[in-house]
Amino acid sequence: MKITRRTFTQNLFLAAATLMVGGLAQSAQAAISVVATLPELAAITKEVGGADVSVYTIAKANRDYHQVEPRPSDVSRVSHAKLIVRTGMQFEMWMDALANATGNSGFMGNGVNVVNASAGIRRLDVPTTQISGASGDVHVDGNPHFYYDPVYSKFIARNILRGLIRVDANHAAAYRANYVRFNAQVDAHMAVWTRELAPFRGKNVVTYHENYAYFLRRFGLREYGHLETRPGIPPSAGHVSSLIANMKRDHVRALVIESIYSTRFADLVQRQTGDKYVVAPYSVGSLGTTNYFNFMDKMVGSFRQALSQ
Ligand SMILES: [Zn+2]
Repeated sequence: MKITRRTFTQNLFLAAATLMVGGLAQSAQAAISVVATLPELAAITKEVGGADVSVYTIAKANRDYHQVEPRPSDVSRVSHAKLIVRTGMQFEMWMDALANATGNSGFMGNGVNVVNASAGIRRLDVPTTQISGASGDVHVDGNPHFYYDPVYSKFIARNILRGLIRVDANHAAAYRANYVRFNAQVDAHMAVWTRELAPFRGKNVVTYHENYAYFLRRFGLREYGHLETRPGIPPSAGHVSSLIANMKRDHVRALVIESIYSTRFADLVQRQTGDKYVVAPYSVGSLGTTNYFNFMDKMVGSFRQALSQ
């Protein structure tokens, strides 16, 4: 009898434990799963999704997004996701392979489970002539680095909002509230960033790759040149020496290097011009940054520093 009672108590305990585990699993499932291609898109997804989403990022912070090699486990991440967030330009071609591997048409093209983050933006550097892989150019659809433009972060957030509501209408009110708050935060920060960069309006800047074209345009700065010979083609001694000559002639002193690249050629420019280059964050997650706002703070600070000398 005693044994039976104990067993009964144990059974109750087990049943309660099972219920608890079940409950935990259920609440974990309640957060919808989103896969973002890039850390910046992931950061904005977290702002709009808040507690109702869990976000996984394919490209790791501070790794060149043009050259990502997805892992086999990424296929499973995508196939279990409710939504994927990508630039919507021919940039993360590796995402196509992952989407195709799931065999789910919702993840392809403008499928119901896809957010094309660039919808509504005005693309820069769109090629006017047919370009191919042979030319080495990595921007066949125009410059895809619009996520470094804080104003476009609001466009991205709106596209993500629409995608989240499409796949999870139950939390639409929360998503809308998060989106409105994010927009207000961007506007407040934008006022500060604009004021901080205002003294340098019209000034020329050299970067490694065409990463900051949208950022520079937004703040009235000019993209003077790049250490890369062409987008995706590494610097050459000849290209850099003529760039140095041009910089000296035109009194261009600001060189900003994205945090993923070798500083070898930047060191050379610094030695020859006497102007110090500055390293700017490539990813949310580079140089100690943790969200879109402190990332952009750091970015603005990097350009101010380079332009102040
Ligand atoms: Zn690029």
